Amino acid sequence: MTKRAYNFNAGPAALPLEVLKQAQEEFVDFAGAGMSIMEMSHRSAIYEQVHNDAQALLRELFGIPSNYKVLFLQGGASTQFAMIPMNLLTPDKVAAFVMTGSWADKAIKEAKLFGQTAVAASSAADKFNRIPDLSDLQIPDNAAYLHVTSNETIEGTQYSAFPETGDVTLIADMSSDILSRPVDVSKFGMIYAGAQKNLGPSGVTVVIVREDLIEQSPKSIATMLRYDTHASNNSLYNTPPSFSVYLMGLMLKWVQERGGVAATEQYNRDKTKLIYDTIDQSGGFYRGFADPSSRSLMNITFRIQTEELENQFAKESEQHGFIGLKGHRSVGGLRASTYNAVTLESCKALAEFMQDFQKRNG
Ligand SMILES: *Cc1c(COP(=O)(O)O)cnc(C)c1O
Repeated sequence: MTKRAYNFNAGPAALPLEVLKQAQEEFVDFAGAGMSIMEMSHRSAIYEQVHNDAQALLRELFGIPSNYKVLFLQGGASTQFAMIPMNLLTPDKVAAFVMTGSWADKAIKEAKLFGQTAVAASSAADKFNRIPDLSDLQIPDNAAYLHVTSNETIEGTQYSAFPETGDVTLIADMSSDILSRPVDVSKFGMIYAGAQKNLGPSGVTVVIVREDLIEQSPKSIATMLRYDTHASNNSLYNTPPSFSVYLMGLMLKWVQERGGVAATEQYNRDKTKLIYDTIDQSGGFYRGFADPSSRSLMNITFRIQTEELENQFAKESEQHGFIGLKGHRSVGGLRASTYNAVTLESCKALAEFMQDFQKRNG
């Protein structure tokens, strides 16, 4: 077999080798049908089973209560930035946000196209190196919802606990940390995520939404952009991204076989500890960007003393088989994305490479 890269891409990201191999085995002839899953009608019994199994398994693994719908949509998490206010923000209400960085900012900007917004808390003064203090949220009385970004993929920060919002609906963009740790779904009105970081390949967006919120969709908005359209048609109103849903189903089975979400969290902690420890024990050669209290288990952001050394690190790491370690162009530095499918072996190799790089350049 060809050598697998140490893949630290931010998204699309690493998939489990076992999943890729199974997909390869079934690629040309799925379940003895004489055709690929990609060639089948989305109304066929075989596809419907794949679709419903993926839904059921996500429900089981993530503990999704029965009064929530699980939708498989297209357009990425970015389309949800618009669909949420379109469906849930009325003219008399305000969409409130916790401003944590790049992705929260995009969500706010999009909501502004549809109605009033407010920032309930922000870590802008700290250059988004942490999740702000959530004990004193400024949520307007007429808030339609409070939107949080559970993991800021670019800055490398993550909520360790979610705010108590009382009667106000809590909505979370979990694009970069869904299924990486147990979450009490019942605290949220809605959770959404593009699949390409933690759930599978690009092309499908998972939306977990409480039934009473779905009913609020105004009848005036486009059919495809209404939650009730997809909820009442089991996400089969139009052609779904069938191959992406199938691969996501394989990835969910892989998570289940490895012990579920709690076991996945432990694995993620073990993985990231290797790299954070290397940063912390480098005597200042490496500097973590995120405040330790807000460090992400999914995206480890760090810097080296000079930009020149950072460029050299990026270049040399590639020569050693590491992919995707350059930080996002908007913040610079370095970033290792350690999503569910990234192996402990990859993280160990990276920690060793970092220690060796410091020895040679420190
Ligand atoms: C990647 C990402 C997005 C954008 O997802 P798309 O599916 O590309 O639209 C949104 N929010 C967060 C937190 C992300 O990490």
